[in-house]
Amino acid sequence: MTYRGCPKRCTFCPETQVLNYRQFSSIITEIKDIIDKRKYQAIFFDDSIFTARSNGRKHDLEDLIRYLGHSRIEWGCQARMGDIDKKTLQLMEENGCTYIYFGIESADDRLFDDMQEGSHGDKIVETMRLLSNTGVRVGLSLCFSMAIPGAGKMREAKENVRKTINFIKELSDRCGNIVLINLDLATFYPGTKMTAVSEKRIDFTQPIIHHGYPCVFPL
Ligand code: SF4
Repeated sequence: MTYRGCPKRCTFCPETQVLNYRQFSSIITEIKDIIDKRKYQAIFFDDSIFTARSNGRKHDLEDLIRYLGHSRIEWGCQARMGDIDKKTLQLMEENGCTYIYFGIESADDRLFDDMQEGSHGDKIVETMRLLSNTGVRVGLSLCFSMAIPGAGKMREAKENVRKTINFIKELSDRCGNIVLINLDLATFYPGTKMTAVSEKRIDFTQPIIHHGYPCVFPL
């Protein structure tokens, strides 16, 4: 990881907004170690949004990407739909990036607007259009049973689930580079907006599995 935390604040996500950046030199030392001593052939950057830039970021993303290219190592990362532009994508591919994992969660615009800060469903289509012109493989994460803050509901409707599944089917048919679709269930975590609007009184000293999910509808 090149930093911990996430600059966004999605309603279901426990990732902290406190950002801790690593020194550029520390990242390079680790990469050298991975390549020269450990002889790994690929690296995955598990940063919440590897491509995020902010004034607080201690190193320059483009320098890091070029260093990876110079090292001739294959690599992948997590990124966010709509936050990755054509120029950055091209630079990443030219410098050894072969895989990007995105959390898209839902294809329902209202739900998506509620749970993902500053993002929108149509950005998925636009980003996938950019990606389909590259050789970069894509993994997608979906998150079902999301609560809807402000809607007085703690459940995702079946229609939303169907809409997301149909959307993903169409996207996979159109874009041949989708190699993974990961299915998740939203979960109550301490400190999230979704937990705050829940009427549940949750004891987080108990194992997380006992808290249930925002929605369990009959199948
Ligand atoms: S879901 Fe992703 S983008 Fe949203 S807060 Fe969590 S890590 Fe950040």
